[in-house]
Amino acid sequence: MGFFSKLFGLKEPSADVPANTYLTETAIKQKNEDSNIKFKQTKELFIHSLEYYNSINCQCSYPRFQQLIGIDCTNTGNSFKCYDTDLLIDLSAEYFNIEKSELNDENKNEKWVCKKCCSTYEYGWSDFSIYVERQKLKLTKLNVAYVGKPVDKPVPLYLGLMGHSYPSNQEIKNVSFDEFSNYMNEK
Ligand SMILES: [Zn+2]
Repeated sequence: MGFFSKLFGLKEPSADVPANTYLTETAIKQKNEDSNIKFKQTKELFIHSLEYYNSINCQCSYPRFQQLIGIDCTNTGNSFKCYDTDLLIDLSAEYFNIEKSELNDENKNEKWVCKKCCSTYEYGWSDFSIYVERQKLKLTKLNVAYVGKPVDKPVPLYLGLMGHSYPSNQEIKNVSFDEFSNYMNEK
């Protein structure tokens, strides 16, 4: 075992592994660029969806918003982060007043109150390992009626998941940007 393996507990590449198993520097760069483009695309989509929900009512009255922010791996005993959920929570923060939570079951707990309808949510952030951390936003009291379209199951995702253990494909599915965009924009 070399120093690298001792340090990280990883298997070193052995001579019998074909060279093309490992990504070239150009391929890694291309992969990162693709992820950045997907991330920016999704950020613009969510900003637009949140503006749309709030031009009619508020985000709370849209089941598809609730479905996406509600993805939380601790509900199923898995350990993953959902990039779509994480980004939507970040971008929706400006539509909430953030108060002190009475809970302390997460590394960070907050009570989020909708600025428009005063529905309440429990916000939490925790890390499960040095690789996986996630934030959640759990609806605790809904003060509005739903006006948005119903949700699909499996939950459509565009950015997807990263972690140690995942839900089955009966729970989530990866879709194209157009499909995801139509879903979030109530089409
Ligand atoms: Zn609301």
